[in-house]
Amino acid sequence: MASSETDIRSAGLRVTAQRIAVLDVLRSERRHHRADEVAILAGERLGVVSVKAVYDALSVLVETGLARRIAPAGGAALFEARSGDNHHHLVCRACGATVDVDCLAGSAPCLHGEDHDGYAVDEVEITFWGLCPDCQDHPPRDQEQHGVRE
Ligand SMILES: [Zn+2]
Ligand SMILES: [Zn+2]
Repeated sequence: MASSETDIRSAGLRVTAQRIAVLDVLRSERRHHRADEVAILAGERLGVVSVKAVYDALSVLVETGLARRIAPAGGAALFEARSGDNHHHLVCRACGATVDVDCLAGSAPCLHGEDHDGYAVDEVEITFWGLCPDCQDHPPRDQEQHGVRE
């Protein structure tokens, strides 16, 4: 993969230390980050960075398609560097862990309904909800109690 700096430049953006740091964070091993997490990790890379600069960098990266913003119901928005492939997400109801699921159809829009009331649909975002392996092994307390009483 090209460096963040190269990609920011080829997207036609001004290259700044903040934008490079933010994109590097999104490209790190953990793939979905809340904005406040990006701010902390980018701060570690840069020494000092204002939260506003990080939020500005995130919105510019999303606008140019270098990053994607997703917002699973009931949680904070998440940012990721994997964009443009219409992939979906699997979210743990208990701990919020989020993983990628490839586009079911291979390209957007994923599903084709019969009638969209005249709308031209170009994207379908699907969220799969369930329990991650860790949370299946250690169910939250109230679920344990439900399990005991039949
Ligand atoms: Zn979980
Ligand atoms: Zn993703």
